[in-house]
Amino acid sequence: MSSDSRPLFGKAALLGIGLIGSSLAYAMRRAGLAAHIAGFAPRAETLESARKLGFADTLHDTLAPTVRDADLVVLATPLGAFGELARAMAPHLKAGAILSDVGSVKMAVIRDVAPFVPDGVHFIPAHPIAGTEQSGPEAGFAELFDGRWCILTPLPHAHVKSVEKLRSFWQRCGSHVELMDAKHHDLVLAITSHVPHLIAYNIVGTAADLETVTQSEVIKYSAGGFRDFTRIAASDPVMWRDVFLNNREAVLEMLGRFNEDLSSLQRAIRWGDGEMLLNLFTRTRAIRRSIIDAGQDIGEPNFGRSRPKR
Ligand code: NAP
Repeated sequence: MSSDSRPLFGKAALLGIGLIGSSLAYAMRRAGLAAHIAGFAPRAETLESARKLGFADTLHDTLAPTVRDADLVVLATPLGAFGELARAMAPHLKAGAILSDVGSVKMAVIRDVAPFVPDGVHFIPAHPIAGTEQSGPEAGFAELFDGRWCILTPLPHAHVKSVEKLRSFWQRCGSHVELMDAKHHDLVLAITSHVPHLIAYNIVGTAADLETVTQSEVIKYSAGGFRDFTRIAASDPVMWRDVFLNNREAVLEMLGRFNEDLSSLQRAIRWGDGEMLLNLFTRTRAIRRSIIDAGQDIGEPNFGRSRPKR
């Protein structure tokens, strides 16, 4: 995190105050990044939770007062709502404001939002690669982005000063920042995030539908590996529906490749090719080591779950 403590923005508006929006508010507060944080959500229940938690200065169920005079506006709702929100808030955006987002897919965000961005408003898509399987304002915490990457995917001819300001914003929220082409972002995230989620949803769904193994057996013996998939498969259904509907091409491309590799494994098992299995499992172990060395997970056995004291 940077040691600079000056506010970067007068007013920041968060459209969506669930896990990511509320965490962003906490991180902004921690680093003193905005003089005023405004939060928007459609449901009274969410606004009431946010009011009790106190991470925003003002809370709204309409867009105009949320974004009015805001120097930074961040879309943090499920992806499917972005286009309509952009259309509805456009007339109320301040000239010179930065409009950004936290959406997990970038080409579709550009497709849905860019047509509504008024002249003089700087649209810079972003995606923090940080999250948990929980959702809603109660799930947020200031440290969510610490040490994680945030990818900015500015359009060609983006306003350079605004891109640098947004980079500095995310750095002060605790993140490392990288700039990337939106199409490449979607391919990278398809294999590192979207396909793993699909596999988790699929394996948990398959186990739930089995007839020869009972559900109570699946739950009872889940420590054999299954339960680690259930953490991912407990992620927000609406958010993930929107991710797959909006990153269709990249996910299908990566799934094609995944299916080919799965068929090779199937063949190796059928023909007793232990060498092939051993080679792959040795390579994958090394990837786990690299993730720990890069500070993107802890090296504790069993994901740090407590062990009996010796
Ligand atoms: P979340 O906890 O479910 O929060 C979603 C927020 O959006 C809530 O405040 C919700 O308000 C609001 N919302 C829902 N539908 C809306 C609609 N149709 N119009 C306006 N507001 C709406 O979700 P999240 O995990 O923070 O995810 C938000 C975004 O971050 C998504 O685009 C996702 O792709 C991205 N992202 C998520 C993760 C992750 O791991 N979760 C990581 C990186 C990026 P109500 O409660 O009032 O409905």
